[in-house]
Amino acid sequence: MNSLFNPDRQHSVINFKELEQSILLVEDEPRMRSSLRILLDEPSRNLAEVGTGMAAIDYLKSSKVDLVLLDIHLPDITGLKVLEWISSNNYPAYVIMLTADRKIDSAILALRQGAKDFIKKPFEPAQIQQKVKNALYNLRLERSHAMMASRLEQSEHLHRFLVENSPDLIYTLDQFGCFTFVNTRFESLLGYTFEELLGHPYFTIVYEEDIAKAHYAFNERRKDSRVTNNLEVRLKCKGADSFKSFDSRCITAMLSAMGIYNEQGDLTKPSSDNSFMGTYGVARDITERKAAEETIAFHAFHDQLTLLPNQRLFKDRMEMAIANASRRGVMLGVMFIDLDRFKLINDTYGHAEGDELLKVVANRINNCMRSGDTVARKGGDEFTVMLPYLSYPEDAEIIGRKILDVLNTPFLINDQECHITASIGIALYPRDGENIGTLLKHADIAMYRVKASGKNGLSFFAPEMEACYQNRITLENEMLVAIKNSQLELYYQPQVRTSNMEIVGFEALVRWHHPIYGLLNPGAFIEIIEESGLIESLTAWVMENACVQLKKWHSQGLNNLRIAVNVSPHEFERSDIVGRIQNLLDRYELPPCSLEIEITEKILLHDSLQVIEKMQALRERGVLISIDDFGTCYSSLNYLRQFPVNTIKIDRSFVCDLSEQHHTSPIIPAIIGIARGFGLHLVTEGVETEYQFLALKALGCDDMQGYYFSMPLPVSEIDELLLKETPFESVADFRPAESVEWPLSGNSSFKLKGE
Ligand code: C2E
Ligand code: MG
Ligand code: MG
Repeated sequence: MNSLFNPDRQHSVINFKELEQSILLVEDEPRMRSSLRILLDEPSRNLAEVGTGMAAIDYLKSSKVDLVLLDIHLPDITGLKVLEWISSNNYPAYVIMLTADRKIDSAILALRQGAKDFIKKPFEPAQIQQKVKNALYNLRLERSHAMMASRLEQSEHLHRFLVENSPDLIYTLDQFGCFTFVNTRFESLLGYTFEELLGHPYFTIVYEEDIAKAHYAFNERRKDSRVTNNLEVRLKCKGADSFKSFDSRCITAMLSAMGIYNEQGDLTKPSSDNSFMGTYGVARDITERKAAEETIAFHAFHDQLTLLPNQRLFKDRMEMAIANASRRGVMLGVMFIDLDRFKLINDTYGHAEGDELLKVVANRINNCMRSGDTVARKGGDEFTVMLPYLSYPEDAEIIGRKILDVLNTPFLINDQECHITASIGIALYPRDGENIGTLLKHADIAMYRVKASGKNGLSFFAPEMEACYQNRITLENEMLVAIKNSQLELYYQPQVRTSNMEIVGFEALVRWHHPIYGLLNPGAFIEIIEESGLIESLTAWVMENACVQLKKWHSQGLNNLRIAVNVSPHEFERSDIVGRIQNLLDRYELPPCSLEIEITEKILLHDSLQVIEKMQALRERGVLISIDDFGTCYSSLNYLRQFPVNTIKIDRSFVCDLSEQHHTSPIIPAIIGIARGFGLHLVTEGVETEYQFLALKALGCDDMQGYYFSMPLPVSEIDELLLKETPFESVADFRPAESVEWPLSGNSSFKLKGE
């Protein structure tokens, strides 16, 4: 502990008894010396004696003496000379002169030179004892006063130091509330000098809005337990009005103050005006702490990235708005907004750019709000909106359309234009739900409906949507289990080279042995799984199993077989698809050209550089890429040029049109022309009849796939098929009874009926 603050030291009391005092007897007559010793000896005294002046000076030089009994007449130098030495050396001893002189002169001289008293010889023993006792007592008193004075001075210094160097504002006011003292912190913190505040009322420095609060606190009169303690008050800096921002003109301080009372006054009545002298106060600058608290509070209720309210604040406001709407019997709207294909943005441009874009999107959505509406970030690319004052449901639709509209303007990422759309679901209170949870859930369900029906739009919640939503949730959960518990199986459908009727490869098609519904085809679940994040796991499972099977066939000597695997466009947008495929090929030591990736034609609509680059990377590695269901998105034909594909698969919808009744649509020859033009390989799928088979063959389609040859089959049946030398002899079983009308010799001069 710092000794300055040691209470023992502060409050120590001098213990007179403990201090031994020393007396020096300077007397040339030995008898006199010994009788003086006898008279004056006491346990608390230390007596020394010398017989000459010089011996006295020598003794004083080496020892501490409190009282000197000094004979004037000494054999060497006079006692006055010794006294002179004592005075000139400021020796801190009392001196009592002893003399046998009758004249008073020497006594006066001695007193002038600093002796404290004078005793004439011969003396009364009691007289000398009393004088010595008094002298020693006075000496002690004097020393103790000196010590007290020095301590007081030190203590005052200390307090002044503490006050002036305090990081807090310390002030005193008179009974009228005017400053009588301010420490230097007022100048360093607020800019006011002592002189500028002296005599001025305290509210000179209080922020206008806080004056009422500061009244009776800054000029506190109480001194009991009710004194002002830690009151938050804002103080103005000097020249505050000329500053622009609040931060530079004000500080927030924590104020504690108490009344000062005259000690003589009546302490039991602190408010008595006779005794109240003013106020003593301390104010601590808590601006930074306050700012930190506000920042923490802000972040507790706002999203870090967009600075929009977070779900906590959103739900808080919803609660109030619902209570209010219920009281007033009015409608309230809740929106669920999900950006379409935002993952693609992140994958294409990176997460930092994605985040920047989210900020701009948030800002644009926020600008569509009316006062009182709240838009909050739900997380990722999801936002929720609360519309507390709705007269009609259409009002919510107007705002929703406005949001879709403002998103329509392209965004700029790295100087590239980029388009964002959103799916918006709307639920209304009280129609669609009476509490936050239900309203949000129903808005979410409505949003999913928009997603399912093509995205970029809005929809109000309708009760029938709920069952659909429930199914979706259940399905997603069940698929998780299916992947884990081997409920999935790959079926294989042969692709046949019609020139020699040999199997050149298989398309792997997933099947789900559902514990309740039995064997499910992908049509029952694939779309929902594609919407959820589970498609990645499903694709991983399919690719792994297809590669395992391919490896088996290759090791059985069927080296030329290839497997086509369907990869959803969503999945293809994943940034590591190339790496994953490469990894599989390496792991199973498969030639890259034995794997074909089928991507639906929709992928061509994403003319994003990143998708093209991935396709290019796969092609460079030798992996085959085919465009599935080709012809279903007419608009995309133009894009074909940009995409590095090997194969196009004519969609079966065109093939099934092909019958004796409807000989063909012009699409098939057109697609064949495109394939030839681009030098692409062609596979025709959905070939069910011999008529279709022969007609397509005549048109120049080489490879075909369809029920005419084989259904998709489990691997055990495929293995049997592969064992046959001519696997498709049996296809005759499928042949329609009537034979095809035209001479079909495989030439392209095949003419359609009616042409
Ligand atoms: P797809 O890739 O166009 O596959 C061809 C679909 O047509 C298969 O349906 C197949 O059974 C069916 N099909 C084949 N020949 C004929 C025929 O002659 N007549 C008729 N009417 N249909 C025929 P499936 O197996 O139900 O698959 C449906 C779609 O599901 C596939 O269309 C594909 O897009 C998707 N799919 C299948 N497996 C997977 C997978 O593992 N991953 C992904 N992402 N999608 C898959
Ligand atoms: Mg396919
Ligand atoms: Mg297809």
